[in-house]
Amino acid sequence: MLASRVLFRVRTTSSRQLSTRAATILNALDLPTNTEIPGVYDGAWRGSGDLLESKCPTTGEVLGRVKMASPKELHEVLDKTREAYRYIRSVPAPKRGEILRQVREALAAKRDELGALVSLEMGKIKTEGQGEVQEFVDICDYAVGLSRMMNGRVVASERPGHSILEVANPLGVVSVLTAFNFPVAVYGWNFALSFAAGNATIWKPSETTPLCAVAVTKIIAQMLEKNGIPGAVSALVTGDKCTGEAITESRDVDLVSFTGSEHVGRIVGKTVQSRFGKVLLELGGNNASIIMPDADMNLALPAVFFGAIGTAGQRCTSTRRLYLHRSIADEFLTKLRRLYSTVRVGDPLADSTLLGPLHTTKAVETYAAAIGHLRSIGAEIITGGERYLDSPLDQGNFVQPTISIPKSANPADKIWRTETFAPVLNVGIFDELEQAIEWNNNVPQGLSSSLWTRDIRNVGKWIGPAGSDAGIVNVNVGTSGAEIGAAFGGNKSTGWGRESGGDAWKQYVRWSACTINFSDAAPLAQGVDFSIDT
Ligand code: NAD
Repeated sequence: MLASRVLFRVRTTSSRQLSTRAATILNALDLPTNTEIPGVYDGAWRGSGDLLESKCPTTGEVLGRVKMASPKELHEVLDKTREAYRYIRSVPAPKRGEILRQVREALAAKRDELGALVSLEMGKIKTEGQGEVQEFVDICDYAVGLSRMMNGRVVASERPGHSILEVANPLGVVSVLTAFNFPVAVYGWNFALSFAAGNATIWKPSETTPLCAVAVTKIIAQMLEKNGIPGAVSALVTGDKCTGEAITESRDVDLVSFTGSEHVGRIVGKTVQSRFGKVLLELGGNNASIIMPDADMNLALPAVFFGAIGTAGQRCTSTRRLYLHRSIADEFLTKLRRLYSTVRVGDPLADSTLLGPLHTTKAVETYAAAIGHLRSIGAEIITGGERYLDSPLDQGNFVQPTISIPKSANPADKIWRTETFAPVLNVGIFDELEQAIEWNNNVPQGLSSSLWTRDIRNVGKWIGPAGSDAGIVNVNVGTSGAEIGAAFGGNKSTGWGRESGGDAWKQYVRWSACTINFSDAAPLAQGVDFSIDT
């Protein structure tokens, strides 16, 4: 994966004519269409590193060339973010909330334009692109409220005349390393909480979605500058794997919030731990839906369809495993196949499209390898399994959504244990709920899971101690598509991180227990007597 990404770095520049389709979207967001785009921001825009080439997954067109940060620039930006942190930590939290409210307004005003850029550069369909920007807007709303509610606690002391306070203070510099598949929202989840908590944030986006990052940073920067806040409070360093490594290793970064693959997350986690930094990991998912005989099929079918095909199977929460009760399996699969046959494939910017392209040609290879493996283990491919090769789909990374029935549902085979980031759904047939729960849990990942039933006894099992071990445990709701209010994240090899709502904000602050003595004596805790003659 990484090797191919490096290929996106180019050293040559050539003049080119951008399609009207792309130019309209870039112009609406103030992104240059005929010059190289500076990809570094810390109050001023620049970039003197290599060029990153942003390619449209639908047409193969080069959308823009972005100048990434040189190693020297990265260090300058880290210095600037430290300075910016010293400033922002003393701005009262509700005042920070007011600035976030303005960022929220500015993002909402550009929701459709930014959403279109997500579709253009990442490849997800229009409504999902807009939804992603809406998620950023929503988390800003949440963080505006939070800016008046990031409360500590007063704890009862066993010593007379003493009080214990649990105090939250800003943490420092937070670096956000993001994946390609949510090129706007994941930064939003992190930035909104980090800013409300009084930190400076430095963003290293995926090397294949630099334009989304530049566009979002421009919108935030305008609001910061309008309020006289240092721009490095929301700094940007576009870059590649090496930039990510340098950030991860830097002692100038207090928290690394990483969203990406398990493979890279393992490296990032170890590196940050080894220097005793804080790390938040949001890694791969391998999510299952379980359909019981009493499930409402009219609800379950479209949810599985969206879960498996939405974002062309490139969501961390995409449905990758489908466990069907034997008594309804044939009927469910017949109806699901029918739905698959109706899927509207094409330009993600067209209103009617439901299935866009995969993000890169490398992802197409990953898809083909997974299909090849399924065939080699004798799985029955009941639909899909090929690329779309007719014009105009042959210009982009379009693959057929696939349903396969491997011979065994035993999670020991890699097809059940590995996240294939493409629209491939593997089906297993079960007889008892307990068996399906065991299959659900017996994989390395633990992000999202979904049970379809009307029986309250099944619900109790599913959400209880012997139930799903994932971070997201849904009932009559698909695996894909979470709201911002609850903490979002997964267990096990998904990394145990939590972002967005719930108590996730508590990770973006440093906690101190402060014992204060208001009395004229200084007793020790637990009655320890260390009296001396004075
Ligand atoms: P990736 O791991 O290839 O890249 C993620 C980021 O890490 C990129 O910015 C990349 O430049 C950077 N990077 C690469 N090597 C690095 C290194 N050695 N040190 C530091 N940074 C490095 O992931 P991807 O292909 O962009 O995204 C897809 C993956 O992300 C999937 O596994 C998906 O499930 C996961 N994801 C998880 C969540 C979640 O919330 N759990 C959300 C979105 C995506």
